[in-house]
Amino acid sequence: MIRFEYVSPSSVKQALGLLSANWGEAEILAGGTDLLALMKDYIVTPKRVVNIKQLPGMHAISTEDDGLLIGALVTLDRIADAAQIRRDYPALAQCVGDAASPQIRNMATIGGNVCQRPRCWYFRNGMGLLPKNPDGKSMVIEGDNRYHAILGNEGPAHFVSPSTIAPMLIAYGARVRIAGPDGERELALEKFFRIPASDTEREHNLKSNELVTEVVLPSAENVRAANYEVRQKASFDWPLATAAAVLQMNGSTVQRARIVMGAVAPVPWVSEEAAQAIAGKTIDERTATAAGEAAVSKARPLSLNKYKVKLAAVAVKRALLVAVGQPVPDLHARQRGGAA
Ligand SMILES: Cc1cc2nc3c(=O)[nH]c(=O)nc-3n(C[C@H](O)[C@H](O)[C@H](O)COP(=O)(O)OP(=O)(O)OC[C@H]3O[C@@H](n4cnc5c(N)ncnc54)[C@H](O)[C@@H]3O)c2cc1C
Repeated sequence: MIRFEYVSPSSVKQALGLLSANWGEAEILAGGTDLLALMKDYIVTPKRVVNIKQLPGMHAISTEDDGLLIGALVTLDRIADAAQIRRDYPALAQCVGDAASPQIRNMATIGGNVCQRPRCWYFRNGMGLLPKNPDGKSMVIEGDNRYHAILGNEGPAHFVSPSTIAPMLIAYGARVRIAGPDGERELALEKFFRIPASDTEREHNLKSNELVTEVVLPSAENVRAANYEVRQKASFDWPLATAAAVLQMNGSTVQRARIVMGAVAPVPWVSEEAAQAIAGKTIDERTATAAGEAAVSKARPLSLNKYKVKLAAVAVKRALLVAVGQPVPDLHARQRGGAA
């Protein structure tokens, strides 16, 4: 074991003072379901672990004028069970309740969920976030890329963003509140994620001396929403493709849509193409299929993951159908979501 310092600050200010100006020197510990695995495998080797579990003001689900506030330390289990979330954001409650396993949801926090590191097997085996062969070529492009990205593949990053919850939060228009040495800032969750250009960068726009304190959800009155995940098996594993849809309706036609795909790109992938395909239309088999096709129209699959293009299109189509209360086939994929 590599020695590290373990600290448990009792205020956000104290916690910020213990973080480092450089990534890798200090790591934040929330539920630990991802960080501890990364440390046991020596993928991250911090000199200091900052346990934030006791920080005040980050454990509550509450309301304010802006909408619903979920403290970064609220566990997935509590989110899935919260009466207010089940009533006002039912597709989110279902999506969170479908993530991981009961034991993990009991420990995992929403702040940790949006900051969890990619599951890319090159990264998890210590070859880096943007792994390269000795000749400088991408190991992912040349190697086994069956679970990698089909969108956002233009740069050196080919892993997929691991959170199944972030796409649903983004579809609902979530923002994150961030505390740092210069005070607080707020960011649309969509803008929180980024595609790193080098191995030393992270997959989000957090600085190494900042922490996420809250997730803010705007009111979701009069929307219909659903999340649909295609998984290899009905078990606690990351899905192969997901789609979250939030629709503002005018009668039976779509006024505005937010469609966000997961497990297809290095960031949660907001599909303007799919949203445009259904704007002003009624959702039925035909329009939902067209939206799915539009969502993957710019896909650039790698050598072994062309199958994901079809799965992603189907995920979008089925999320839309579930959102408007239409039945979808539930073959090997599990049906998720629900109309709000
Ligand atoms: C078997 C298995 C199946 C899983 N399936 C799914 C799934 O289907 N869908 C899904 O979305 N996830 C899944 N997960 C991932 C799981 O949801 C995450 O590990 C968990 O949400 C991370 O939360 P945590 O509180 O344990 O974070 P930690 O492990 O404590 O931290 C994770 C990362 O976030 C950073 N961090 C934590 N909190 C903050 C904060 N407030 N501000 C800034 N940085 C922070 C840490 O430094 C670390 O880098 C699965 C995990 C396992 C082990």
